[in-house]
Amino acid sequence: MALRKILVWPDKRLEEKARPVVRVDDRIRKLLDDMAETMYAGEGVGLAATQIGEPARVAVIDVSGADEKVPLIRAINPEIVESEGRVTHEEGCLSLPEVREEIARFEKIKVRYKDPEGNTVETAAHGLLARVFQHEIDHLDGKLLFDRLSALKRGLIKRKLKKAKLNTREDREDHELRAAE
Ligand SMILES: [Zn+2]
Repeated sequence: MALRKILVWPDKRLEEKARPVVRVDDRIRKLLDDMAETMYAGEGVGLAATQIGEPARVAVIDVSGADEKVPLIRAINPEIVESEGRVTHEEGCLSLPEVREEIARFEKIKVRYKDPEGNTVETAAHGLLARVFQHEIDHLDGKLLFDRLSALKRGLIKRKLKKAKLNTREDREDHELRAAE
């Protein structure tokens, strides 16, 4: 297993639509293992391949911290086949550090995906699991959580993120300058 670098917005690769996996092979299984390790290292509950610059429709999810009955899910070509209700809850994203926003999602969903053995799995999800599935499938479609907000709100968040990025760069240059003195 290998730790991979998580892309942070405004990296353009986060806006790419991932391609469906045609064959479930060792390459995909290795990718899923790397993603699980990277998700745990980042203390996230989900990670989509687009977040590490791999445009394949695969995601890993682990909500066992909230519901220990649900083990690590390695989902290949996940899709929502049924949905019901609407619920708003706070969400964060490993690709959007510091951002926490109230996002409306389906309350209950039925998802279909292939597991690492190539078997088709269909499962009903609600609560955190349903939310994370929807968040990761959005990533695979090149969408980030702020794409679920109004244009006004989205603009504010993007400006804040760009400013934060600028500040870190200035801090670093400042520090390097002082170190050189
Ligand atoms: Zn995310």
